[in-house]
Order: sequence, then structure tokens, then C-alpha cells
Amino acid sequence: MKNFKLNNKGKYNWNMVIILTLIPLIGVFGTGIYVYYNGVVWQEPLLLLVFWFLSGMGITMGYHRLFAHKAYKTNAFVEWILMIFGSMALENTILKWCSDHRVHHTKAETKEDPYSITEGFWHAHIGWIVKNVPEENSRVRGVKDLTNKSAIKFQNKYYFSIGILFGFIIPLAIGFIYGRPLGAFLWAGFLRLAIVHHATFFINSLCHYIGRRTYDVKSTARDSWFVSWFTFGEGYHNYHHKFQWDYRNGVKWFAYDPSKWIIKGLSFFGVTYDLKKVKEHVIVQNRVNNIKIQLSEMFNKSGDGIRNYYQNKVEQLHIKSERLFALWSDMEVKYAEQLSKGKLKNKEILKSLVNERKRYKEQINLIKQDLQIIMSNVQKKRLQPNLS
Ligand SMILES: [Zn+2]
Ligand SMILES: [Zn+2]
Repeated sequence: MKNFKLNNKGKYNWNMVIILTLIPLIGVFGTGIYVYYNGVVWQEPLLLLVFWFLSGMGITMGYHRLFAHKAYKTNAFVEWILMIFGSMALENTILKWCSDHRVHHTKAETKEDPYSITEGFWHAHIGWIVKNVPEENSRVRGVKDLTNKSAIKFQNKYYFSIGILFGFIIPLAIGFIYGRPLGAFLWAGFLRLAIVHHATFFINSLCHYIGRRTYDVKSTARDSWFVSWFTFGEGYHNYHHKFQWDYRNGVKWFAYDPSKWIIKGLSFFGVTYDLKKVKEHVIVQNRVNNIKIQLSEMFNKSGDGIRNYYQNKVEQLHIKSERLFALWSDMEVKYAEQLSKGKLKNKEILKSLVNERKRYKEQINLIKQDLQIIMSNVQKKRLQPNLS
């Protein structure tokens, strides 16, 4: 959003209220009325999808994973492309966006978190943008590492013009080519922008509200495959808050995360590189530890009978899992040493690494299953240890 001067007189910044009301109103009703009188031609939904994809990827792959989290590296040309695509989403400059977002991670759920869910769903969704904020909280900070990039310097000067040119004027010009400029303007300009805005806003609201907390039960961030479907993979927010510098948000190979697939795909051509990724045993250990934290919280609330019945078993499983994780971690160090010496080109060594990982994972999965059975029994106040 363009940086309008703060009107400190009231709770709301009315410029922003009007703009953020008009965009979806024109997007939905304007486009609806246009369609009612003029029908639809195939170019219009296609333009919507293309411009949605480009501006959405500019935010997820560019603003978020590249600039805010430095989850991977790329060349200056791609930085420029992502800067232009991201500007089309009209979600402010890279510097302001990254400044807010980095605070959202480091100060999550505190007063300093700009879109803290503790202030309510509405505030986390859009309220934080339309409210007047004290100058201290709205200043750009913690982004010095980004200020020297040519794409970012250029954007800082011409952000709004770039956003309007690529997000509205170009669709309008394309519309002239097939003879329906207003249609293209509404579909790929307003309707597209309303979708991109609210999809991003839902990550801050819905993804801190509904979904599973598989990796960090203490965080308000949740994993939602549903939100991922319209945010190019950003719905796996519990994982993301736990491991924010991982270039993946949907960590499982089948998790819908097109940003992850494109970043990975480009790495095969050397366009992206230094992709940061959390080691598998660390992720699995985190999941198991998370179940243990949930169980200990449940024990605190349950009666003595339930706790005495299961606590010993949970303790044994804990010791067993810690031993396995220590062995798995040592094994990874050993193979990493061989990799640095170039020995991993040997297919046999690679094969044995894959097999050993599989073996550890299977054993840990059994422990995880037992812990989950105990958890479900505790929930149902049942004393039935049907464990492996
Ligand atoms: Zn978040
Ligand atoms: Zn993030």
C-alpha cells in the first residue's frame, strides 16, 4: 500500500479505509456489473489468473522468502523481476513489508508485532493497515542488509508508479488489443488486486487462527493446506514460524507450495542457489518434541490416575527417541564429512545414507504413533495402552 501520511487525529487512517474498501467493491461489483452487461471473453479470466500468479509470486517468492527471510539467493535480474511483480500487489515497498514482517516473527504475539493475532482476527487481517499506528511502530527497521540492492533502491523511488503501471496500465493496454480495455482493467486490475490482498491478509489472520500446530504448539501460527491453495503455498504457517528461513513452507513433498517448487526448479539452472533447508531429523525431532509438550500440558490438566498410568511409558518413549535422534544426528555429521570430501559422488554411499535415514524414520514413527495413541487416550480419559 502506498505510504500515506498518518492522520494521527483518530483511530483510523481514513485514506486507507476508503482505498481498501473501494478496491474489493470495484473488483467484485464493478466486474460483476461489467460481466452482466458485456459478458465474459476467455481473455479476461486468463488475464486475472496470470496477473494473480505474477503478483502473488512477487510477494511469496520475492518479498517474503527472498527478501524478508533470505531463504535462498538469486541474481540481480531475478531480484528486479520479483520486485516488479511484488509491486503489482500494492502491499507497500519491500523495505517496509520486510521490516513489518521481520518484527512479526521476532516479536510474534506481543504488542510490537504489527499484525498480532492477540489483538483479534480483524486487526491481524486488515485492521493493522487501516489503523493509525504510533510513528515508533511504523518506522522501517532491521532491513539494512537489503538497502544496497539496486532493485530495492529503484523501487523505493518509484514504488507506486511501478505498481500502477504493471498492475493496472498494462492490463488496460492488453485489453485494448482484444477490444475490451475496461474488462481487462477490472478483471486483472481490481478483482485480481482484491484477491491478492485478502489472500495475503488471510495468512496473518486465518493462519494464526485455524489449523494444526504440528511443529510448535506454543505459537499461534497454524498450518492450513486450505489457505495454501490460494497463497502459492504460504498456508503452512506453523512450520514457517518455527523454521522461518527454510525456502519451503509446505515441507512435505506433496504439500501444495508452488513457490517452493519454482525456487527449487530454478536452482537446477543455477538461477537460484544456496537454498536453505532444515535437516530432516531436526524437523522430525521437533514434531516428536511438540507431541511431548502437548502431552505434558494434558497431564497437568488430567487427574492423577491418568498421569500415573501413562507418565512412565511416555518417559521411556522419550529416552528411546532421544537416543535415536542422537544416533541419527551423528550419522548425518558423518555423511556431511564424506560429502565435503567429495566421497558422496559414490552411489553406494548415497544409497546407504538414504537407507539409514529410512531406518531411523521408521523407528521414530513407531514412537510417534505410540505417543499419539497415548494422547488420544488421555483426551478420552481412557486407560488402554494399545501400544507397539
Ligand atoms: Zn505469522
Ligand atoms: Zn515469514
